[in-house]
Amino acid sequence: MNEKRVADLIRKLLVELGENPKRQGLLRTPGRVARSLAYLTEGYRLKMGTVINGAVFKSEANNMIIARDIEVYSMCEHHMLPFFGRCHIGYIAKSKVLGVSKLARLTDFFARRLQIQERLTAQIANAVMEAAAPEGVGVVMECRHLCMMMRGVGKQNSVMTTSSVLGSFHDDQATRQEFLNLLGDRRTGL
Ligand code: ZN
Repeated sequence: MNEKRVADLIRKLLVELGENPKRQGLLRTPGRVARSLAYLTEGYRLKMGTVINGAVFKSEANNMIIARDIEVYSMCEHHMLPFFGRCHIGYIAKSKVLGVSKLARLTDFFARRLQIQERLTAQIANAVMEAAAPEGVGVVMECRHLCMMMRGVGKQNSVMTTSSVLGSFHDDQATRQEFLNLLGDRRTGL
């Protein structure tokens, strides 16, 4: 991404919106927006390998591991407005476990690009499957979408929930149920 070109586009956008990009408060805005966008979409330019960066550990145990309340900040691809909330990841390790901070980084890796919540949820599940080869994985995500909250009428409080289950979380109802029970009422109301 070329920040100077993006800044030029933002300057043009400001004019189109009826603003004066030369007024004091806006002088440095195009550059700031460009840098901010570079960060918010860095998922396009990072490599999965660097994100996981070897943080896969050997494990004998095969019980369920859950990382709850991972913060999610992304942007919807339909309106380029933020959606944000929490993500809960559970998996049953076969022989490898992932560091908890890696699950958060994995989430950011896919969240920092234009997304829809359904795809983001599925990509995280697939990535955990690929990185740790667990028996199964489940991801539940609860987000609020500014494109609904700022534009819609009467949708200000809606939280969208998506889930993706793979392997034993998909095939075995008891496993899936255990996962949902463990999330249970501690699922946040945001
Ligand atoms: Zn949207």
